[in-house]
Amino acid sequence: MMDSRLTLDAILRRASRVYADKRIVSRGNDLAVSAATYAELRPRVARLMNVLRSLGVKPGDRVATFAWNHARHMELYFAAPAMGAILHTLNIRLAPGQLRFIVDHAEDAVIFYDRSLAPNLRPLLERPDRREAFICMDDGAPDVEPLPGSLEYEVLMAEADDAERFIDADENAAAALCYTSGTTGDPKGVLYTHRSLYLHSVGICMADSLAISECETVLPVVPMFHANAWGIPYACALTGASLVLPGPHVVGKPLADLIESERVTLTAGVPSVYTVLHQYLRQHPHDISSLRSLVIGGSAAPAALIEAWRRDFGVPVIHAWGMTELSPVGAVCRLRASMQDLEPAEQLPILAKQGIPVPMVEADVLDESGAPAPWDGKTTGELVVRGPWVARAYYKEEGAPSPLTDDGWFRTGDVARIDPQGYVELTDRKKDVIKSRGEWISSVEMENAVMGMPGVLEAAVIGRPHALRGEVAAAFVVRRSGTEPITGADVRDHLAATFARWQLPRLKDIHFVDALPKTGTGKFDKKALRAGLQAS
Ligand code: AMP
Repeated sequence: MMDSRLTLDAILRRASRVYADKRIVSRGNDLAVSAATYAELRPRVARLMNVLRSLGVKPGDRVATFAWNHARHMELYFAAPAMGAILHTLNIRLAPGQLRFIVDHAEDAVIFYDRSLAPNLRPLLERPDRREAFICMDDGAPDVEPLPGSLEYEVLMAEADDAERFIDADENAAAALCYTSGTTGDPKGVLYTHRSLYLHSVGICMADSLAISECETVLPVVPMFHANAWGIPYACALTGASLVLPGPHVVGKPLADLIESERVTLTAGVPSVYTVLHQYLRQHPHDISSLRSLVIGGSAAPAALIEAWRRDFGVPVIHAWGMTELSPVGAVCRLRASMQDLEPAEQLPILAKQGIPVPMVEADVLDESGAPAPWDGKTTGELVVRGPWVARAYYKEEGAPSPLTDDGWFRTGDVARIDPQGYVELTDRKKDVIKSRGEWISSVEMENAVMGMPGVLEAAVIGRPHALRGEVAAAFVVRRSGTEPITGADVRDHLAATFARWQLPRLKDIHFVDALPKTGTGKFDKKALRAGLQAS
């Protein structure tokens, strides 16, 4: 058989010819909606590749984006990898210190940003040795100035050569880079290849997976800056599905309006998005009859939410599990053939599981001794995975301890059990991190910061379950005797210097205690703290 290259430019070329008239709809900061087709995307990408070249970007260089979901971001998704560079999607919710760390670590050559987000990038300007160029994408935001010295996206596009020059990329060449929060220490980069992204696209389009086909109109609420919007932009182009990119307004009315006006059939995001949307639609009915499924992942989709969408709107929720290190989709929850006739009440506990590993991804659970646990739906252990879109190491971390087991499985840090039908069900998290509305808060970093306060002897931070956000940070603080007693407000003020506002614990979640429970090895006993929170 031929050994043809699985590269992203092949996806674009096919989409532009076979699905020439299929639409990419994009909404700006000002809610203005524009539409282009896959045929129109291709010459824009060709020009953008030439823009990158004219900026001095070379194969292997990192091209960063700091942007919402929109058409220009889609152009960058293809243009950077198609000219040999690496698309690096920066998370716009990062605290300034983390943002600086990541941009320096990745050594981004250029950063394309939405004008509305310019204020969030200002901390980067303070670095004396900064080397990256800034390109502003005008998203129609009122009253926000571009960063000083920025170039303008559309001006560069208008001036660029329009000759189409794809390179013959190696399918194993790096195509994209995403950082994820490290459980301890600094964020870690995950480098995807053309091949891994291509195969991941195939995997998520399969019928028992997310079932993205040409018949769908897909609206990813999941941000293009978080794990490649779960690979949905590439999967849509691969299959010719219409794509609806919602820009920054993804709650309540603007989201409901867009689903209605674009006749969206499939939308995807974290649970809080669909909790809010459900509430809104109950009070403000819209015609959402086009919706065939909601894909919910990134955090556990509560059974009550899955049931509410079925009961109130007849829309099935497809629960999915993944990680940045898995490109990111690993498992998708659909009923097995033998379960189709079960009563809704019997189906619900199955649908709330994280799902069956997507073909090409293998999953298993290891017990304490590292031996595979039985698939009995009871025995829990660390979930391990392997497959062509699973990371085997972190970017520029050669020599660091491997995230793999000795026999090559990726340790997820999630605790799970697998049942005899192959469903993975997460029961806990081994890694010490908090996930709030789909984004991470490092508990270790936060407790180190609190312990840096002179009035603090010890501090531990855990995630408190929260109905809307999934989890929020809760801090337990032991005051140092003989110092001025600190208050919850002092702790928040101190943390505000290094953490983003949304990451800060609320005053009611800062508990002053006499001592912290410890494990036999002297570590903070976070299980006991969690149990104490639940009991209170
Ligand atoms: P990220 O790399 O930010 O996509 O986060 C990956 C982590 O999010 C996983 O290792 C899980 O801890 C958590 N996660 C993702 N999807 C789910 C889900 N459906 N249910 C529970 N936790 C999830």
